[in-house]
Amino acid sequence: MIFIIKNIILLLALQFYQLMQLVFATNNFNKLKEVKALLPEHIKLLSLKDIGCFEDIPETQQTIEGNAIQKAEYIKKNYGYDCFADDTGLKVEALDDAPGIYSARYAGKQRNANDNMDKLLTQLSSIHYRNAQFKTVLALQLNGQLHTFTGICEGKITTKKRGYNGFGYDPIFQPKGYTKIFAELTLEDKNKIGHRGKAVSQLILFLKTYK
Ligand code: IMP
Repeated sequence: MIFIIKNIILLLALQFYQLMQLVFATNNFNKLKEVKALLPEHIKLLSLKDIGCFEDIPETQQTIEGNAIQKAEYIKKNYGYDCFADDTGLKVEALDDAPGIYSARYAGKQRNANDNMDKLLTQLSSIHYRNAQFKTVLALQLNGQLHTFTGICEGKITTKKRGYNGFGYDPIFQPKGYTKIFAELTLEDKNKIGHRGKAVSQLILFLKTYK
């Protein structure tokens, strides 16, 4: 009963304030924090927890785009919410664009960020050419239509881990033109130049003009 009343109040508020409600299909707290910091107030962001989704969403495609689309479509189909999902990969030129779609499980099923970074640093130990890029694709499922937005951040892989901010490969990624690495930047600065920030900016622009 309380749940129904809460939903009715939310629906009324959505109509009154012209709020838009969107699920961000991630369980990654850091990603939620990054994206929340960018979205305008009229977009109410729901997490997977908010919609009662506690399962692993399939990610079985061979491209970053494919995985983002698969996640967004899965939530729409199984939970009925308009939704966007992101998928990100780190591509290292000297390693033929590895780890790419395998970035999360590069060092194994445990999906451990430190293990992944250690493996990458070992693979690159004798390589001087360390150019790399992060690529994020956001897939948006809105009113039965699919839209995608891509953000790329170029840079290089450092030789040692540095800094305490961020997550994932942030302690070894130095964005082009910066002396600091991602893990030494504030959330705001990373968002301004980062792959996810760029993709989210396009999403916001799209939503602002969406009728
Ligand atoms: P996914 O998009 O969550 O599948 O991310 C794939 C892998 O890239 C995971 O290991 C993440 O930790 C890592 N990753 C995603 N976004 C970032 C980022 O902004 N900085 C550093 N690592 C990231």
